[in-house]
Amino acid sequence: MTPLGEKIKQLVRLEGPISVERYMTMALSDPRYGYYMTRDPLGTKGDFTTSPEISQIFGELLGLWCADLWLRMGSPTSISLVELGPGRGTLMQDALRAMKTIKGLLSAIHVTLVETSPTLQQAQKKRLASSSVDIQWQDDVSSLPKQPTLLIANEFFDALPIRQYQMANGKWYERMIGLTEKGDLTFGLAPDADRTIQLSATEGSILERNLIGERILKDLATHLMHYGGAAIAIDYGHSQSGFGDTLQAMQNHHYVDPLDRPGEADLTTHVDFKRLSNIAKHCGNTVSGPIIQADFLEALGIKQRGESLLKSVNTDQAKSISSGIDRLTDRTPKGMGSLFKVLTFYHPTMPSPAGFNE
Ligand code: SAH
Repeated sequence: MTPLGEKIKQLVRLEGPISVERYMTMALSDPRYGYYMTRDPLGTKGDFTTSPEISQIFGELLGLWCADLWLRMGSPTSISLVELGPGRGTLMQDALRAMKTIKGLLSAIHVTLVETSPTLQQAQKKRLASSSVDIQWQDDVSSLPKQPTLLIANEFFDALPIRQYQMANGKWYERMIGLTEKGDLTFGLAPDADRTIQLSATEGSILERNLIGERILKDLATHLMHYGGAAIAIDYGHSQSGFGDTLQAMQNHHYVDPLDRPGEADLTTHVDFKRLSNIAKHCGNTVSGPIIQADFLEALGIKQRGESLLKSVNTDQAKSISSGIDRLTDRTPKGMGSLFKVLTFYHPTMPSPAGFNE
């Protein structure tokens, strides 16, 4: 067992079973042992990879998506560009490079990177050190700059702790993590039923609630209503709400048991886009999507950008560019192009964002 696993077992012995949300919070962000706190998990040598690490075109297209909105907003002289959970800073670096081609844009933007991990903040500072734009860091979304905002979140909502509930004898019980007789971590149910959930479901069904993500989304949508602007969220997840256990753990690019390596394996869940979209609408935002990532990237011209890059590279680079594009737009059921969904929400007076064909 990992050092954090021992710490969690000790906590359970003292206080009794803990919620999945608390377990995930400790596993991901315990100040000493939390997964994101201590390492750079991305890339081939890490535990998982993400779209901006697979192809530079991903960040470039998101930069141009923002640039297009800025132009159609009438090129305001000051605008805030925010990224949530920027990883290694790769997406922002690629986005800013693409934005350079639009006259006046870089001098209008102020970048805010929202990142809890000190290790990844360091990586972002290094990656973006030579950038000419003004960049600031903060560790939560509660105090974003009070001005029109364009916001990007790639694989952010899937990294937030969730709660789980299970249907037993016609009632919903919160799923908890306790100990087996041998002292191993195991899933169980809270002793008392939860009275707040009214959904009907078959025996054994699992319901997930990303309350932390929902609160963040509400803050963002409210911010956009006050100051104007648009947000785009890209994540693997489902367009319609449903039941099922989507908690998964990944280490060295392989799935592992979510209770086996707390602090050393990445924990994620699938995003319920329907709920996020309803919250944004409820706050007064206009919503487009979710659409699948392949449709979004193709609408923005990923193929054309690939062809133009291929003109000036050697054979190895050409292979990597083509395979990156294929991977991001793979429409097979387990491909990134169909598993990943894209949702945008924005102030109702904003021009409609590119790529959604609505
Ligand atoms: N967007 C990046 C990284 C995705 S991994 C990419 O696509 O490559 C998830 C990112 O979210 C990491 O940078 C992680 O440190 C950050 N993160 C996780 N929980 C967070 C929180 N509550 N607030 C801010 N950042 C968080």
